[in-house]
Amino acid sequence: MLNKKIVIAGAGFTGAYIGRNLAEQGWQVRIVEIKDHIAGHMYDKVDELTGCLVHEYGPHIFHTDDEDIWNWLNKFSQFEPFNLKTQVFFESQQDWFTCSFGFHTVEKLFDKDKAKAIISQLKKSYPGRDKVSIPELMNSKNVLIEEFANLLWEEDYKPYTAKQWGLDPKEVDINILKRVPVYMSYYDKIHSNKYEALPKYGYTALFDAILDHYNIKVELSTDVLKSLEFSDGAACYDGKPTLFLHTGAIDELFDYEFGPLGYRSLRFTKEITKNDKNTKSGDPCVDIYPNKKYGYTRITNYGKLPIQNHLDYQVSAKEYSSEFKIDSNLGRYYPTLTSQDKIILEKYKNKADKINGLYLSGRLANYKYYDMDKALTSARDTLKDILRDNQ
Ligand SMILES: Cc1cc2nc3c(=O)[nH]c(=O)nc-3n(C[C@H](O)[C@H](O)[C@H](O)COP(=O)(O)OP(=O)(O)OC[C@H]3O[C@@H](n4cnc5c(N)ncnc54)[C@H](O)[C@@H]3O)c2cc1C
Repeated sequence: MLNKKIVIAGAGFTGAYIGRNLAEQGWQVRIVEIKDHIAGHMYDKVDELTGCLVHEYGPHIFHTDDEDIWNWLNKFSQFEPFNLKTQVFFESQQDWFTCSFGFHTVEKLFDKDKAKAIISQLKKSYPGRDKVSIPELMNSKNVLIEEFANLLWEEDYKPYTAKQWGLDPKEVDINILKRVPVYMSYYDKIHSNKYEALPKYGYTALFDAILDHYNIKVELSTDVLKSLEFSDGAACYDGKPTLFLHTGAIDELFDYEFGPLGYRSLRFTKEITKNDKNTKSGDPCVDIYPNKKYGYTRITNYGKLPIQNHLDYQVSAKEYSSEFKIDSNLGRYYPTLTSQDKIILEKYKNKADKINGLYLSGRLANYKYYDMDKALTSARDTLKDILRDNQ
């Protein structure tokens, strides 16, 4: 039996996936987590007053096409199929529009004849395509398509992006939105992956099961950086040389030597509201407010996510976007990835490459937005590196 050891910073998906796989191969795994809970950004807990399960860092829906990752997760929890749908409030129309956008949006925005003409023009202009990006639609030479695209841009994408990223709407670069699709059909859900689901008993319970292994020791409320040093080009923890996997922020790991990396942060305020007991699967559960007159960007109604129709009251969380500052107690949410950030990141990566026994993985260490499944596939690659380097 091997007796290899590793210290892992962070009990989110990245740390838990790599830790569990190494533990099953006989490694002694010590997971050190700065927060007082496991599950990283996926952490959920039941609100004491209402009994409502709430995702504490914003709504998280698992979706993937990766069979291997899906099968791995299903070893630790049952999953309930769930399709995320959101709705956006269009100020000019004083009405809600289901998101993702598609032919249903055209029909709600325009009278019957005009809607028919726009849909027919969309089909003719983009044959064989299931979705088209907003910039593509805005570049269309067809006036009808252009009118539709401009409405979406002015009502939703431009003000929402400005609010989310703290920009003046004039500065919002249309190219940011290349990945935001408008469906060439009546498809109105956010994701279109093979699997989209929520862990039946919540994410924290899923993480409890993943971390429940005799070779894994989890230490909560402990900042790994307090006991970590790099000496003679190698990682040492508690004064002893060790293999070390960091899933926390790369700039913090090196004490901001090359400057801080930029992030947007989020803040949530919770309210108790009456639960809509008639909620059905597929009803929108996140309300989006792009217009700047609302201070918040979204409200998530947790009675609908997952569906908790047995509750009389639920928790609704308002989401506010702000700049991240190192000394504040706001967390790192979305990397800003400016050209300056990219230059700084390269310097940290070069430094990390020179340290023996140091591995970086996850959204904070790689300074990258990953959906959960992409964080897991990236963790799978890091796991292979660790195993290959330490045979
Ligand atoms: C608002 C929001 C909504 C999202 N919704 C979705 C969604 O619906 N679907 C989806 O697929 N993805 C979603 N994501 C992405 C998802 O959150 C990430 O994919 C996931 O968090 C990646 O896991 P991770 O382990 O890399 O990072 P994390 O979950 O952040 O885990 C890193 C861990 O390291 C710990 N740590 C950091 N520094 C230290 C230190 N010094 N010492 C010890 N521990 C430390 C942190 O406390 C944290 O627990 C969303 C992201 C955001 C911001």
